[in-house]
Amino acid sequence: MYIGRHLSIKEGYASAAKAAYSGGINAFQYFPKNPRSLGLKAFDGREAERCAELCRQHDILTVAHSPYPTNLASEREDVRQRTVDSLLNDLDIANSCGSIGVVVHFGVYKGKEPLAGYQSIIQSLNEVTSRWNGNAKLLIEIQSGEHTFMGTTIEELAQIRGLCAEPAKLAFCLDTCHMFASGLWHGETDAEWLKKAVSLGVLEHVAVVHFNDSMFAAGARRDRHAALGSGHIGEEGLKWLMSVPALAGVPFILETPSDEDGTYERQLNLMREWGT
Ligand SMILES: [Zn+2]
Repeated sequence: MYIGRHLSIKEGYASAAKAAYSGGINAFQYFPKNPRSLGLKAFDGREAERCAELCRQHDILTVAHSPYPTNLASEREDVRQRTVDSLLNDLDIANSCGSIGVVVHFGVYKGKEPLAGYQSIIQSLNEVTSRWNGNAKLLIEIQSGEHTFMGTTIEELAQIRGLCAEPAKLAFCLDTCHMFASGLWHGETDAEWLKKAVSLGVLEHVAVVHFNDSMFAAGARRDRHAALGSGHIGEEGLKWLMSVPALAGVPFILETPSDEDGTYERQLNLMREWGT
């Protein structure tokens, strides 16, 4: 299985790839640029290409994560436009690094007409895909429901992708903490949501799993990631998810606090154990 965690790129993209294989993981996520800004980054294409090469050599799968202010659904046209430009920049970097794609949250809409929020998402996605022809995809992440009503269901993922002009450029990111927080999942095995993801054609397009435990109870709508084994989801459900055949080649990536010793070894070992 492909197992890993979020890594820093402060020493460069290729250094993150080196840190991955020297740390014994074969998947990682990174911020392609400053995570707190939609500002565009002029990056070193050759350095990014070295990252891609190292990942090919060592069979490492990677995904980029878009900056926090990225908002496909924004009711503010300036934010939406800057989101589109920023995502094209993220895709460019991710593609050069040989990554599967760029994780982007479903979106947060604060306006008065919920439907307009969904329309904004579709418009933003269409604007990005019409200007993008690389291999890296946009990976739409399911949400926890903490800041928005949007993007917490399998149906919404299916609909958004289905209504876009170029669905082949879009895939999905599942986040175990978000699905638990929203109440979509209570940590049970053979979960109903998975059956729905199969029947609505979502599961076959899941490209990455954010593998996080949850500090709060199911349905609490609190997006607080906990270290594996110290949250409310429980081992049984997390272990089951790792055994879903359709997810066998999909990277499972931790976005959790480190273990007591400051490393992630205990959590990574749990994943290795669960994934075999
Ligand atoms: Zn996540």
